[in-house]
Amino acid sequence: MGGEQIRLKPVREDWQRALVVVAHPDDMEFGASAAVARWTDQGKHIAYCMVTSGEAGIDGMSPDDCRVVREAEQRESCRIVGVDEVEFLGLPDGVLEYGLPMRRAISAVIRRHRPEIVITGNLRDSFGPGMLNMADHIVTGQAVLDAARDAGNRWVFRELLDDGLEPWNGVRLVAAGGSPQATHGVDIGDYFAAGVESLKAHKLYFEAFGDNTPDMEEMLEGFARMAGAQLGVKLATSFEVYPLQFL
Ligand SMILES: [Zn+2]
Repeated sequence: MGGEQIRLKPVREDWQRALVVVAHPDDMEFGASAAVARWTDQGKHIAYCMVTSGEAGIDGMSPDDCRVVREAEQRESCRIVGVDEVEFLGLPDGVLEYGLPMRRAISAVIRRHRPEIVITGNLRDSFGPGMLNMADHIVTGQAVLDAARDAGNRWVFRELLDDGLEPWNGVRLVAAGGSPQATHGVDIGDYFAAGVESLKAHKLYFEAFGDNTPDMEEMLEGFARMAGAQLGVKLATSFEVYPLQFL
């Protein structure tokens, strides 16, 4: 650890409304949810939108049964970090495609919530050396980056106007958690425990590992110490920040 250099800048916190858009239940809970706990404790408003319900995540359980349990577990996970608005777009888990339907759906959610920042997951090819990312995460992150700008353009997805969804061009940045090219960090020292609890709320998913269930607290602490060293604090979580406005 001694060789780590401080290379992350603090994520700015001069905003009031954020929207999380990720592919699956549990995508936020490998670090980013602890930052959400910090921000809701500051009085910020954060809503979650899950593109799928993670219904294809358990081999021994049919998607229809799985969806119900995973949605409930995500709601509980959100409650732990101070979030009570959670919605599920219902796109198909495991086979998400980048394209206009997904951009339109996410644009609509952004117009409804009118966030200043949008949080998503890692859209790079990997999480780091030897840790491949997967298509659902990559296409969701790409669609979020585009939808954040589509949301502000009156002449893109004009049918949204018919639903009363006026353009919203107030998204200042998109922050992607878990990126191997992270640029920014958030001190989660006081919120690490909440982050661990929010991950443990995904009981069904972790039960599927059986005897091979990882020690979640140990795993999260490893990530948080590494990001902490790069931010100059004990425990942190990191984001790759994509600025959309130069203010
Ligand atoms: Zn995922």
